[in-house]
Amino acid sequence: MIAHSDLHIHTKASDGKAHPREVVLRARAVGLDVIAITDHDTFAGSVIARRHAGDGVPLIIAGAEVRTVWGDVLVLCRNPIPVIKDPRTLRELADDNGCVLIPAHPFDVMRLGIGWRIRENLWDCVECFNMSSDPITNIMAWTHCRASGKPCVACSDAHVLEMVGVARTLIEVPDLTLDDVLESLRKGLVTPRPKYSVTGLARKVAWGIQRKLHGHTRYPALDEDLYLKTA
Ligand SMILES: [Zn+2]
Repeated sequence: MIAHSDLHIHTKASDGKAHPREVVLRARAVGLDVIAITDHDTFAGSVIARRHAGDGVPLIIAGAEVRTVWGDVLVLCRNPIPVIKDPRTLRELADDNGCVLIPAHPFDVMRLGIGWRIRENLWDCVECFNMSSDPITNIMAWTHCRASGKPCVACSDAHVLEMVGVARTLIEVPDLTLDDVLESLRKGLVTPRPKYSVTGLARKVAWGIQRKLHGHTRYPALDEDLYLKTA
């Protein structure tokens, strides 16, 4: 079967606007089968989302967008792993835990992409389209994937609900299970479906301004923080 996925979504657990529970409902409404909630340097959003999703669709990949010493990398796992900043050590940990590593917006230097480090033999796929990135850096990543044969995924990098699932990746899976999804990502059985949404991006800009006006230099607390600290 073909599973519709959005593998790069933020929530209140970092700088996103929505609660993980709202993201789950939105993903369901826009027909996503699988989502990875990838808050900055924490698996918290995905852990909370999983509690709210239960056993139904969408499947929730345990995810984080880790700011490594080279730049941002999406870490997608069955269950959370420690957040490691050294990419080679992160790769070892990912292998031990069956995780998938995907450099996020690699050529977007404004947002700490890893640049030409995408040539390193550490990555399962590359994010060749990020809805929050400009077309030029997206085309650079897309072109690299085309030339190198690297599997390429398209993601929304949603920070507001209106962005969830606009850009998506189709994953070929035997069954809709987390193990099959992660295995298919490792095998590169993916087809990117890039798309921009003017409304989504406008809402994201508005959310960014709102955060600045309220002086949010740190991430807001979730009511489930206490659970997360012990998770
Ligand atoms: Zn992101």
